Amino acid sequence: MQRRHFIKQAVGAGLAGSLLGCAGRQPATVYHPPLSPIELPLSLPPLEKVEARSDRIVAMNVCTRPFRAMGPRTDVEVMGNKTVIHNYGHGGSGWSLSWGAAALAEKQIQAETNTPVAVVGCGAIGLTTAIACQRAGYQVTIYAKERPPYVRSSYATGIWSPDSRIVTLEHASGYAQTWQWMARLSYLRFQTLLGLPGHPVEWTTMFRMADKPFSEKGGHNIPGEPPYPAYQHELLNDLTPKARNVPTELNPFATPYVRQFPLLMFNISAYSQYLLDVFTRNGGVIVHRELRQQDDFKHFDEPVIVNCTGYGAKTLLNDDTITPVRGQTCKLIPQPGLQYGIQYFDKHTSFYPRRDGILVQAGAEGDFNNPQANIDPAESIAAVNAIADIMQSMRSV
Ligand SMILES: Cc1cc2nc3c(=O)[nH]c(=O)nc-3n(C[C@H](O)[C@H](O)[C@H](O)COP(=O)(O)OP(=O)(O)OC[C@H]3O[C@@H](n4cnc5c(N)ncnc54)[C@H](O)[C@@H]3O)c2cc1C
Repeated sequence: MQRRHFIKQAVGAGLAGSLLGCAGRQPATVYHPPLSPIELPLSLPPLEKVEARSDRIVAMNVCTRPFRAMGPRTDVEVMGNKTVIHNYGHGGSGWSLSWGAAALAEKQIQAETNTPVAVVGCGAIGLTTAIACQRAGYQVTIYAKERPPYVRSSYATGIWSPDSRIVTLEHASGYAQTWQWMARLSYLRFQTLLGLPGHPVEWTTMFRMADKPFSEKGGHNIPGEPPYPAYQHELLNDLTPKARNVPTELNPFATPYVRQFPLLMFNISAYSQYLLDVFTRNGGVIVHRELRQQDDFKHFDEPVIVNCTGYGAKTLLNDDTITPVRGQTCKLIPQPGLQYGIQYFDKHTSFYPRRDGILVQAGAEGDFNNPQANIDPAESIAAVNAIADIMQSMRSV
């Protein structure tokens, strides 16, 4: 209750998206979409079973979320005769907030159109920032030591999760307005990417299973991690379609509590390729370059540089405000007929029916402040086995 009050107060009358104090001027592109908060009728799709076996695992990955307790870094620094705009530290929300983060960075550039702009980084944030800068008329070159599919962004789960480890509750009120602006802008942009060849972005149906009633779950708090704000629930309630409780007679799962909800999903292989294609089609060039120290920003030809180095900024800038939050995923061979996913957090597992591989997320306590990039196969195999158990205990309804 107290938290809700806290955030609502912070957002207050500025809900329409004024970003004064963040970008310096009011963005013209943000508005409340004309969606009504109508609840979707409950209809269960045919539930094909996942072939959840460890011999169908085709990839395992680990990466670290670039989390900052106070929210992403977005300030502007002058280094010699260069202007550096920082755009990193988007925690577990980098894909989801990317278009908003990109717009925010672009609006910080106070230069003539046609000015050459360097974007350092080619992950979710770098690519969207580069495209936003191109749209604003700048000539953009991306410099990066890795590009998709070998950036950390390529190893993400790939779902709309705009308030996942983006800020701590302690800093939530100060960041709420900027967050909401970014989230709404990104959400609208994603709707324009539906139905494209390769399905870079699509909606799927999710089921959330729970052993205890959802009301007893204690919000977003994860053992071993600081409390986070439930921004999405508090501030975007009008935006995304509602979750519905699945009534007992329709519940095919073994847990007594199940919710169904639509979820926006990113097929990261196709989506990254789409972003790369748009960037190059607009005349953009990607140059391989690794920056070793902060002073390297001074050696660019471009007068303006946007720093989208994600977790890489921790070493590059000695930035101790970045906390690594480890995450391990694996992919099972895709099943084109699978049209739903499951989140069963009590059993540390979830899966998403991505077209580039059924994405299985293993959750582990001890991920927070854990920079370990080594893969623990046992973790993913346990998550896949947990899914096998769910499949086995499903009943027809
Ligand atoms: C397991 C896991 C699941 C996740 N799931 C989701 C999800 O479902 N939805 C969501 O929205 N977010 C998710 N995230 C978070 C999301 O992946 C990150 O917030 C996002 O990838 C950050 O993107 P980025 O572009 O800042 O960083 P990166 O993808 O790390 O890109 C950084 C770029 O900078 C370059 N670079 C770094 N240092 C240097 C240097 N010194 N010199 C030159 N280049 C450099 C890199 O080569 C790369 O090109 C997840 C994260 C994890 C770990």
